[in-house]
Amino acid sequence: MDALKPTIVYRYKNGLYVNLTNRCPTACVFCVKHAWKMDYRGSNLDLGGAEPSPAEVIALAKEQWTAAPFEEFVFCGYGEPTMRFEAMLTCARLIKTGRAEPLPRTLRVRLNTNGLANAVWGRNVVPEMKGLIDSVHVSLNTADPEQWRALMRPLEPWAAGGFEKVKEFIREASLILPEAFATAVEDGIDTEQFKALAARLGAEPRLRPPLEAR
Ligand code: SF4
Repeated sequence: MDALKPTIVYRYKNGLYVNLTNRCPTACVFCVKHAWKMDYRGSNLDLGGAEPSPAEVIALAKEQWTAAPFEEFVFCGYGEPTMRFEAMLTCARLIKTGRAEPLPRTLRVRLNTNGLANAVWGRNVVPEMKGLIDSVHVSLNTADPEQWRALMRPLEPWAAGGFEKVKEFIREASLILPEAFATAVEDGIDTEQFKALAARLGAEPRLRPPLEAR
């Protein structure tokens, strides 16, 4: 893959990852996009402001599928996918309605998110994902609101009420979507409290080590 060209879709493990946007309502302390200079394991995720259309994403995904099928279609980039909520749903809808063949309509579609979509869009967007997003992984990171602000560094409009909105998003997702995980970087947090909060919200907790700076 040409590391200089912006990467819209990239392979990682068994999935095809989709880089919809570089915009993000948080500046997480553990985000490696600056330390890794927008590179992710050989792919340049810097879109340079040119966000791809759903048609472009699906065309690239079809090419990838034809080269070698994958098990998951994952919205996850150096940026928050739900900043392009409609484009994200359009991609998923094309797959789930069989209008993206050879991609099968049974292809699992996952969203990796910081969970701020309800706060950003000013409404509960989770019901709109029903039937389109199979699995959601929400980067919650802590059970403590102060620590959440310190770790996630939300932009000003979402700093005050953001944590509550993320919890609401997880609660809704765990009720409406087939699978909801609350994730955390396992570094300096109270993991037991985190797991307990995830359980109260109806989500499965998942801890991961920090990505190394380089
Ligand atoms: S949500 Fe993702 S892209 Fe945004 S700052 Fe955090 S780790 Fe980086």
